[in-house]
Order: sequence, then C-alpha cells, then structure tokens
Amino acid sequence: MDVPPEQRGNGSVKVTPSRWRRVVLKLSGEALASAASDETIDAATVDRLAKEIAASCAEFGTEMAVVVGGGNIWRGTIGAGEGMDRATSDTMGMLGTVINALALQDAIERAGQPTRVLSAVQMAQVCEPYIRRRALRHLERGRVVILAAGMGSPYFTTDTPAALRAAEIDAEVIMKGTHSGVDGVYSADPRLEPEAVRYEEIGFMDVIAQDLRIMDLTAVTFCRDNQIPILVFDLMQPGNIRAALAGDRIGTLIS
Ligand code: UDP
Repeated sequence: MDVPPEQRGNGSVKVTPSRWRRVVLKLSGEALASAASDETIDAATVDRLAKEIAASCAEFGTEMAVVVGGGNIWRGTIGAGEGMDRATSDTMGMLGTVINALALQDAIERAGQPTRVLSAVQMAQVCEPYIRRRALRHLERGRVVILAAGMGSPYFTTDTPAALRAAEIDAEVIMKGTHSGVDGVYSADPRLEPEAVRYEEIGFMDVIAQDLRIMDLTAVTFCRDNQIPILVFDLMQPGNIRAALAGDRIGTLIS
C-alpha cells in the first residue's frame, strides 16, 4: 500500500502541486466528536475527515503528520480542577489522544491511505514509539504519520507538541483546524462581537500582543522563534483540508 514519493503521480494517479511539501495538521479531539449525536468519537465525522486527508494527500503528494488532541475524552485541567494530581490527570489526557489516533488511523487507512501511529508515550503492543528519524522515514514513504500522546509530558496541551514536531520534522506549516465555527483569527471573538474582522494574515507578535487565543501561547511563541507559519482554518467546512493544502486563501496565516 505504501507509495514512495518519487512514484506518486505516475501511472493513473496525477499529482497536483501543493503549496506545501510537508505539513503538520493539528486536530483537536473535539473535532472527532459530534455535538448532535453526543458521541465522543463520531464515526461519520472521523470518516469525513479521514477521506479528505487521504484524498488531499494523494492529490498533492503532500507529506502530512497529524497531531491529534484528546479534549473529547479528557483534559488534564478537568481532573486537576477537581483535586486530582495534575500530572496524573494530564497523563489520562495523553492516553485519550492515543484512542483518537487509533480511530483516525483506522478511518484514514479505510480511505486507502497508509498511516503509522507514533506515540510519545511508549506502548509497544499498540503503536510505534515516536522517534524523529522514523517519523521522517514514514513521511518520505508517503505514509500519513499520526502523532499521539503529545509531548509525552504533563503540563502541556497538544498545541505545543504540534509546534515542536513541526520543527523537528522540518514541516513548512502547521495547519490548525478549528471546530468551533470560527474560521480564522479575528480581532475579537466573533461569537461574542459580530463586528469582529477576520485577518487574512497576521504577525506572531500581533497574536501575542493582542492575546488572540487561537492556539496556546507556548506554541505560538515557539513557532515565532522557529519561523513556522500557522494556518488557522475551519476544519469542519468540507473541502477545507484540500483548500489548505492547495494554498488557497482560507482562514488566517500567522507568520
Ligand atoms: N496532554 C499532556 N501533554 C501533552 C499533550 C497533552 O499532558 O504533551 C494532556 C493534557 O491534559 C490535555 C490533554 O492531554 O488537556 C488533551 O490534549 P489537548 O487539550 O491538547 O486536546 P485538544 O484540545 O486538542 O482536543
């Protein structure tokens, strides 16, 4: 099933050039859930995302690492707020990301795209450990790499490992898919202030100075320091993963 990059685009499969050669797609756990059906992992939602990831990667030949969150299952702050040990509660959150990673893997592979799950917390019976050079090898071989368990350390969310892994694997951009209906970075929360305007592009310093909380500050600061642009876009709009890979002007580019 694995198709090396040099062979992608030959034969009957035609590869359209993408703006981006290698990307990190950050998916929140809640993007896999469904408010309507009250499901923690909604099969139809996961399938829709998986098909779009598989089709877009095949069309453009883009190498993709997906960093998946776990907020649909557990967040460390929930337990900590109720008196749990924070590190234990965060570890539960990291395990939630592994559950989501397996759900995504299953759906993306059913859509015909080879994948590998690499976890920052070792679980040999379930998936591979995260090893940078192994991740690079999988990407070069055309596999979508799904990065689970965040950094493997408590006190982080998955935004920061998305930024860290992007730097490690030399990704050109982080694509931060939103699921809240907000399709980019706005001057204020558009759900509260209808006059808020969406920026097509904005600088890291403005995001930080204006405290525009589209991504964890640690991640934004890391991306600024390492010059990794972040594309914020509405993940739930069908066709947007493809549009993001194509380099269409959607969402907001932070650079
Ligand atoms: N988490 C962690 N270390 C990490 C990444 C995640 O401890 O490097 C824990 C943390 O408790 C977090 C939870 O896993 O609340 C789920 O991740 P996140 O909140 O980023 O999920 P998302 O909001 O993207 O669904």
